[in-house]
Amino acid sequence: MEHPENDEAYKGLVVNAGIEQPSAVNPYLKGRKRPKRAELSVNDYVEGILKGDVTILSQAVTLVESVLPQHFALAQEVIEKCLPYSGNSIRIGISGVPGAGKSTSIDAFGIHVLEEKGGKLAVLAIDPSSEKTKGSILGDKTRMEKLTIHPKSFIRPSPTAGSLGGVARKTRETIVLCEAAGFDKIFVETVGVGQSETAVHSMVDFFLLLQVAGTGDELQGIKRGIMEMADGIVINKCDGDNVERSNLAAAHFRNALHLFPLPESGWAPQVLTYSGFYGLGIKEIWDMVYEYMDFVKANGYFQYRRNEQNKYWMYESINEQLRNSFYQNEQICKMLQLKEQQILCGQQTSFVAAKELLDLYYNQKENF
Ligand code: GDP
Repeated sequence: MEHPENDEAYKGLVVNAGIEQPSAVNPYLKGRKRPKRAELSVNDYVEGILKGDVTILSQAVTLVESVLPQHFALAQEVIEKCLPYSGNSIRIGISGVPGAGKSTSIDAFGIHVLEEKGGKLAVLAIDPSSEKTKGSILGDKTRMEKLTIHPKSFIRPSPTAGSLGGVARKTRETIVLCEAAGFDKIFVETVGVGQSETAVHSMVDFFLLLQVAGTGDELQGIKRGIMEMADGIVINKCDGDNVERSNLAAAHFRNALHLFPLPESGWAPQVLTYSGFYGLGIKEIWDMVYEYMDFVKANGYFQYRRNEQNKYWMYESINEQLRNSFYQNEQICKMLQLKEQQILCGQQTSFVAAKELLDLYYNQKENF
């Protein structure tokens, strides 16, 4: 049938037959399977890491972070093989409350040490809140503008899945992989809000606490335990109108530290002021860190601390695996619900309920 627009009345407006709609799929690719990314073997991972291939390193870290049981075994093998090539680095923990200037400072610190000392820097994180917030720290790489594009740096956000212990273990294993890949400076960032500092402290050689001068009562807000962990306290944002307040805060911290006994390392923690944003006082901080390294390497504490950390992590792993084995046990899961009910109704005491659950678990293991 003739199209109505081809009528005389529409002279000049001729409708031609259109061309056929091309297929959305390129015909040359039809029938061909999409190539799947080849699964790497343990040796592929290890060889890639030892060559310093950052793409393979990233894939290996993803494997370490995976919650799939088949990945766990593979990851452990890769770590085991990388272990002899690890350890040759300095590991620095950097902690501070949100807004203290961690990312600004790490950017400035990182560029400083890379320029001054050479080598390669990996920036990792432990963020216990990341499961809920999907990574509140280091989630956004643009926070460290200069380091992100630096060819000698590797930035990896916090693993997200699992308990703090699990997250920390993964970060520790990532340190091994990074060191095997030739990263000789490792920064581990954490939010200064409590338990995560202990986790970071248990995997670094130097623990740097970032503070900012506030209203003069900053000492009240920080827990004694965290101050005791610090090998250095640095007061950020010492610029503009803030210089006097920062110096005052530094004096407060110095006085407070005098009240603590000398740490096991024999190193008296220092307090310095700086400005991450304007790049002031950065050199002094890193001179202090390297002075500490020389000091503890000479008195044997460096190796002692690493050995103690290895022991700590063996126990942590045992605890984590026992806990998982118990709580992931099907029968235990069922009985746990029942016991909770009984406790809520006052039918059983917590202690007896716990004993019965554990008995069930041990009996199962014996019969296995
Ligand atoms: P984070 O949450 O600890 O990672 O802190 P950020 O690095 O994101 O910094 C928080 C805010 O403090 C930002 O607005 C920064 O620009 C500012 N800031 C960071 N370092 C300094 C500094 O040395 N001086 C001043 N005046 N502001 C800073």
